[in-house]
Amino acid sequence: MKVLKFGGTSVGSASRMKEVAKLICDGEQKIVVLSAMSGTTNTLVEISDYLYKKNPDAANEIINVLEQKYFLHIEELYNTEEYKQKALDAVRSIFDYIRSFTKDLFTLFEEKVVLAQGELISTTMVNLYLNEQGVNSILIPALEYMRTDKNGEPDVLYIKQHLKKILDQAPNADIYITQGYICRNAYGEIDNLQRGGSDYTASLIGAAILADEIQIWTDIDGMHNNDPRYVDKTTPVRHLHFEEAAELAYFGAKILHPTCILPAKLNNIPVRLLNTMEPDAPGTLISNTTEKNKIKAVAAKDNIISIKIKSGRMLLAHGFLRKVFEIFESYQTPIDMITTSEVGVSVTIDNKKHLSEIVDDLKKYGTVTVDEGMVIICVVGDLTWNNIGYESQVLAAFKEIPVRMISYGGSNYNISFLIKADDKKRALQSLSDNLFNNQ
Ligand code: ADP
Ligand code: ASP
Ligand code: MG
Repeated sequence: MKVLKFGGTSVGSASRMKEVAKLICDGEQKIVVLSAMSGTTNTLVEISDYLYKKNPDAANEIINVLEQKYFLHIEELYNTEEYKQKALDAVRSIFDYIRSFTKDLFTLFEEKVVLAQGELISTTMVNLYLNEQGVNSILIPALEYMRTDKNGEPDVLYIKQHLKKILDQAPNADIYITQGYICRNAYGEIDNLQRGGSDYTASLIGAAILADEIQIWTDIDGMHNNDPRYVDKTTPVRHLHFEEAAELAYFGAKILHPTCILPAKLNNIPVRLLNTMEPDAPGTLISNTTEKNKIKAVAAKDNIISIKIKSGRMLLAHGFLRKVFEIFESYQTPIDMITTSEVGVSVTIDNKKHLSEIVDDLKKYGTVTVDEGMVIICVVGDLTWNNIGYESQVLAAFKEIPVRMISYGGSNYNISFLIKADDKKRALQSLSDNLFNNQ
């Protein structure tokens, strides 16, 4: 069985929902994961923000506007009065529920519940539409099987067992519709897999049922060789290794949620990125095979902070790096890039929550310099060390750009640069021109 995930724009209007329905009704049994309609989760975040700020009037105003939009979608989506009424009843009761949070204390717990409503609405609407069309589809509630453990990591065994039980209860359904993004935590409370997390839902389901393939349907023809939001003339990459895709997703290629590759990779399930607007386009296939001697793509990760610790006494001293890393670990702050020299070490982080404590602690071991507003540019491809010439080809793209750090050799697939945020667009364009557009 395949798992197909459709993102926010793919279900962003009544007509898009109808297109999705056409796409998934091909006679094959499948699990379909849906995001909230595009814009909805952002609006729910805005509503929550007003509720945190104890401004229920502003929250109610936005809730009413959003509800009206859904009434219009319903009017357009269904043909029969019967299904219009069913959808209206379901959507009204969800909005009444959201409104109930304007009257009481609002905490992180209530926020998670509010954020979950977007996916609950979209899946209900699409499932009702399929039923109206005579399709044998059923809703399988993510809140009954998608769960994280005490560390906030997916509880893989729980997911597998509970999903299997739910699927076994309706073995003859043609299409199982479920919510992306939402889950319960170890205490049974409603939670989520972080923004953009519907991709993660799809790969966790894929891993749980050992799917034949996981398809991520979005608004572009697969992974492009550079970020199309910043660079002209990007083109789709047809094949990526799991590791290459993971690097690109982690380093900013928004088309994929960074966590989504691991479950697929561990179970060797191919992931295909496809375009809902152009369903026949080949997209990108992510699998276990590498294309030799090829630089594939470039991505950029924003809001990076670099920290340099310089110590005269570090020269040949053992234990220095351990002490430095322990400080980051004690503040649960992951490090992205590392470069070292005889006299110092530079690292990057993207979480500045404990920056001042970290810097205070590091000062015990050397002189500390912090640079904020940095960007990691990550170049991905077959960059095995004994392939000659690729590093210099990549470096040539930076000849006009100040580079703060370079990291190469940590994997066979990547070379990373740390530069100022102001130089990001220029660097991405220069890489495209040097690596892809002159061939
Ligand atoms: P969805 O709502 O379907 O999850 P997203 O907006 O999360 O879609 O991801 C798709 C978007 O990712 C594209 O519209 C594109 O602007 C952006 N994107 C960023 N980097 C890349 C890339 N390298 N290749 C393709 N798309 C990218
Ligand atoms: N709806 C959620 C978001 O906007 C999850 C997703 O779309 O993947 O972040
Ligand atoms: Mg997404």
